[in-house]
Amino acid sequence: MNATPDKDVNTIAIIGAGPVGMLLSLELARHKYIKVILIEREKDTTIFPKMEVVNSRTLEFLKRIDNGMLLQKIRETGNSVTDKFVKKFYTSSAKWELGSWVWNSVAEQQKISKFENNGTKSPEPYCRISQYLMEPILMERCLQDPYIAVTRGEEFIDYVEHDTHVVLNLRNIASSKARTINTKYLVGCDG
Ligand SMILES: Cc1cc2nc3c(=O)[nH]c(=O)nc-3n(C[C@H](O)[C@H](O)[C@H](O)COP(=O)(O)OP(=O)(O)OC[C@H]3O[C@@H](n4cnc5c(N)ncnc54)[C@H](O)[C@@H]3O)c2cc1C
Repeated sequence: MNATPDKDVNTIAIIGAGPVGMLLSLELARHKYIKVILIEREKDTTIFPKMEVVNSRTLEFLKRIDNGMLLQKIRETGNSVTDKFVKKFYTSSAKWELGSWVWNSVAEQQKISKFENNGTKSPEPYCRISQYLMEPILMERCLQDPYIAVTRGEEFIDYVEHDTHVVLNLRNIASSKARTINTKYLVGCDG
């Protein structure tokens, strides 16, 4: 759902539509009574690779959304679950290999997790996916959510805290036009 200015104070404003801001928005929206305004200064999701491994705890949170469908989409977009993850260490790109570190593939690790039920293994092992591939999936899902209003191309400037609410000052990047919104809480996920 695209954003319209929301004066409702029973909302939570989240600054920054990176992985953290989008996942938090989806987690809050999942409860179906909290309204979120997700404010992002960029017009589009990142074009830089940045993050390339998502860890278990994040994946466990993602799994709670849409009964695991969102996580499935992320896994299908990332590296194959049957690929091993091999890290190699060199003195320089043209010189000697110092050693390598081989991780089980996700599929192998999932098998192990099933049988080692001592609390040390997550049912959701790591996922290799670049941030520029993962963000569009999260953003598409945020835009569809009736509890999340996404505003892009708008920058958070500062806020004034009151007993009952927060007043946020925002600025449109293209037009420089300023506006204020009132929300109950403000969460910074601005990286
Ligand atoms: C080269 C590199 C490799 C990395 N590899 C990994 C990895 O393998 N695994 C891993 O977990 N992490 C990795 N990281 C770190 C990873 O990128 C961060 O953990 C991740 O981006 C954090 O997500 P985030 O949502 O907190 O912040 P960000 O991704 O930085 O998102 C913040 C968002 O807030 C927006 N924003 C900022 N200020 C404002 C404002 N005033 N108003 C409105 N919007 C605003 C930004 O435009 C941005 O979209 C890597 C980083 C780099 C640079």
